[in-house]
Amino acid sequence: MKHFDYIIAGGGCSGRSLAVRMLPYLKASNKQLLLVDKLPKKGNDKTWCFWEEHADVFEPVVYKKWNRLLFSSHFIQQELNIYPYTYKMIRAADFYTYTDEKLSGNPHIITIQGNVERLYTENQQAYAIIDGEVYSSDYTFSSIPRIQNKRPERYQYLLQHFMGWVIETETAIFDTECATLMDFKTPQQTGTSFVYVLPLSPKLALVEYTVFSEQELATEDYTTALKQYIEEQLHCKKYTIKEQEYGVIPMSDHPAQRQQGRIIYLGTAGGFTKGSTGYTFRFIQKHTSAIAEGLTKSGNPIISSVFPNRFKTYDAILLHLLGSRRLSGEEIFSELFEKNKAKQILKFLDNETSLMEEIQIFSTLNKKEFTLALLNRTLKTIA
Ligand SMILES: Cc1cc2nc3c(=O)[nH]c(=O)nc-3n(C[C@H](O)[C@H](O)[C@H](O)COP(=O)(O)OP(=O)(O)OC[C@H]3O[C@@H](n4cnc5c(N)ncnc54)[C@H](O)[C@@H]3O)c2cc1C
Repeated sequence: MKHFDYIIAGGGCSGRSLAVRMLPYLKASNKQLLLVDKLPKKGNDKTWCFWEEHADVFEPVVYKKWNRLLFSSHFIQQELNIYPYTYKMIRAADFYTYTDEKLSGNPHIITIQGNVERLYTENQQAYAIIDGEVYSSDYTFSSIPRIQNKRPERYQYLLQHFMGWVIETETAIFDTECATLMDFKTPQQTGTSFVYVLPLSPKLALVEYTVFSEQELATEDYTTALKQYIEEQLHCKKYTIKEQEYGVIPMSDHPAQRQQGRIIYLGTAGGFTKGSTGYTFRFIQKHTSAIAEGLTKSGNPIISSVFPNRFKTYDAILLHLLGSRRLSGEEIFSELFEKNKAKQILKFLDNETSLMEEIQIFSTLNKKEFTLALLNRTLKTIA
């Protein structure tokens, strides 16, 4: 049986983020890490967007940044001053190439392609069965998707599903300094839906149609909505589709198990997808950076919490409200953006506000509906 000090199962966003962040620690402690993914991880399988105040380790692969954002709905149209934040885009292809360069040839890291069939923990060791072979480690970090036994009587389960096109237009129609964060001028019958537009050049942009609902749509529903938005809202009739992206992100308040003996879960598998928005990238960065810091300081990779638990409750309330459809997502987000500074909203969505700041934000929202959603959620969880 082969032994490594650490195994990272799943070399996607969180697995590679952790591996890169662990490099100084591995060198200083002379430890060995095995990184395994079932796929070769080449090509642009997704695009990550997020906001941050300061440059972090993946700044060299930031593809595009915006200092101005636009929020638009049937109720309001608002340009958002997001200072001190910058909205950033990383293309997965660049992230994989960059992390490959950082990791390959490093004497402390072995990367392999293989299918992780099982993970288990026994006698203070973690075990991974990879393509039929057993590997042991002191700790295994896993981002491999996990099957959850759903409990709809207790928790809310929505999907954030989206299709995006990188389109090239014949004329220059995009303001490259301003990205559209959310535009709700889309059909709302199938659930909360909006489009975001990320201009890459005056003639090139990623236009993404996003829906929060229980079920995915048929392919033609996404394409119809995208065509309609491009024609009616962007006033563009002639364009070429250069790339297409499709994705589904789970949105739920079902608690995620963060650790099982010597197995530590990362990324979406570890519950680092924000239940109410689907944003994950920044939470992955915070978690993996905390693990690397814990290892460096004390050799302990177990992190008690990355943010206060009350944010899980806020996400759950918003999910219950969206699920109940008593208020539409368009109404909720319009009110939020109309009555609060963008900087505060982004800080809140990053789970970084203080209780006082949260009370200030809640005081601007529909108190009756939020209180009902809180009661509904509390009754469900104690039933
Ligand atoms: C299309 C798309 C766009 C997104 N955009 C954003 C965004 O803009 N901003 C944001 O914050 N979040 C976004 N997300 C959500 C989230 O950031 C991503 O899903 C992110 O990749 C999650 O990282 P992860 O490490 O948990 O999972 P992944 O990056 O999916 O990594 C998991 C890895 O495990 C591997 N794997 C699975 N099963 C096995 C197995 N049995 N054996 C070995 N390996 C295995 C997979 O091949 C994969 O590489 C997006 C998600 C999708 C799907």
